[in-house]
Amino acid sequence: MAEFAFKTCNSLEFGYFPSLEKFGVVHGFTCRTGGSSDLVPGGLNMALHVGDTKEKVLANRIQTAKALGYAPEKATTCAQVHGNNIIVVTKELVGRGAYDYADTIKDTDGLVTDLSQVPLMLFFADCVPVMLIDTKGKGIALVHAGWRGAVSNIAAKGAQLLHDRYGTEMKNIVAAIGPSIGPCCYEVDKSVWDKAKEFHDCFIPAREKHWFLNLWQVNTEQLEKLGIPGENILCAEYCTKDHNDKYFSYRAEQGKTGRLAAIIYRS
Ligand SMILES: [Zn+2]
Repeated sequence: MAEFAFKTCNSLEFGYFPSLEKFGVVHGFTCRTGGSSDLVPGGLNMALHVGDTKEKVLANRIQTAKALGYAPEKATTCAQVHGNNIIVVTKELVGRGAYDYADTIKDTDGLVTDLSQVPLMLFFADCVPVMLIDTKGKGIALVHAGWRGAVSNIAAKGAQLLHDRYGTEMKNIVAAIGPSIGPCCYEVDKSVWDKAKEFHDCFIPAREKHWFLNLWQVNTEQLEKLGIPGENILCAEYCTKDHNDKYFSYRAEQGKTGRLAAIIYRS
């Protein structure tokens, strides 16, 4: 927990990992308040696909960009589908979905890039954001790892893509697992258990035919298996359902809620 903290920039609050700042990246996990959403009054909903007023979401995004110091039109997004497709953000793709959901990169749950000043921005309400940073090179990655993405190894796939595309060495990757639903609250049934055979050690027995799934552990294990040193894997261990005052939570709010944005860019 000590590795995860909060900072306030231009009167907006962000969760972040202070130890990442020395690697030449700017990042943050937006909190739920301080914006102008209609969906969640006064909320900082960052996603265009959840029934909020478009102008209000764009105002929230512009306010966030100012706070973190990037050009809002360069934020690059994707339409997440709980898959494990990851796209390399090249110059032609910069800013896709920044202002218009119709323009976002389709069917994709992870982005990587080595471009400076190009924020990768994905949306979450309980699912797990995983950031990957090449501490010796330029590559960064951001993936959406809810249970489907996690059991299909999306975080490891992101790390592998950094290696294949930019020559990143696993020992030089630092990973950061952001605020998301914790094993304290994430009860799943047998349909999840059956599809996650590789990760049965990450399930804690609950009521009959139900388990609490530790998605933080699933992501950590697959990154370690790939050769990323355990000490390089930071985990916020900050449960969004328990901290619903701070973050949107799909489970705590029965699906009717906004989305936090996980944002990272190479400065
Ligand atoms: Zn919890």
